[in-house]
Amino acid sequence: MPKKLEHIGIAVKDLAASEALFTQLLGVAPYKREEAESEGVMTTFFLLGDVKFELLAATNPESPIAKFIEKKGEGIHHIAFDTTNIVTTLEEKSAQGFQLINTSPKDGADNKQIAFLHPKSTNSVLVELCQDK
Ligand code: ZN
Repeated sequence: MPKKLEHIGIAVKDLAASEALFTQLLGVAPYKREEAESEGVMTTFFLLGDVKFELLAATNPESPIAKFIEKKGEGIHHIAFDTTNIVTTLEEKSAQGFQLINTSPKDGADNKQIAFLHPKSTNSVLVELCQDK
């Protein structure tokens, strides 16, 4: 089961500019910048209270983030829920009729196992399930 909102992923064009913007907006500095090579993204993380903000910028034109921005522009890309057991949560969500993008968890940024649910089955919201490694 999802336990809580873990982070909100925001697609941005210029990571340095958006880091400065969100530092000002949130009043806190980012705690981490990390490349997720498999996804073709560079990420920057902020922590505000219990919730993280993950800025995502494409590192190549084939990146899903580049394609997202091309289609929809910058903005909220996904929301991520912390889960107690990502494998059983995926099975549970699949059994409930949600469409899985990843049938098993993969390595994500910020020391997490992650998997996505297809926005077709979640009111057009890309949902990430995650669990600390
Ligand atoms: Zn994420």
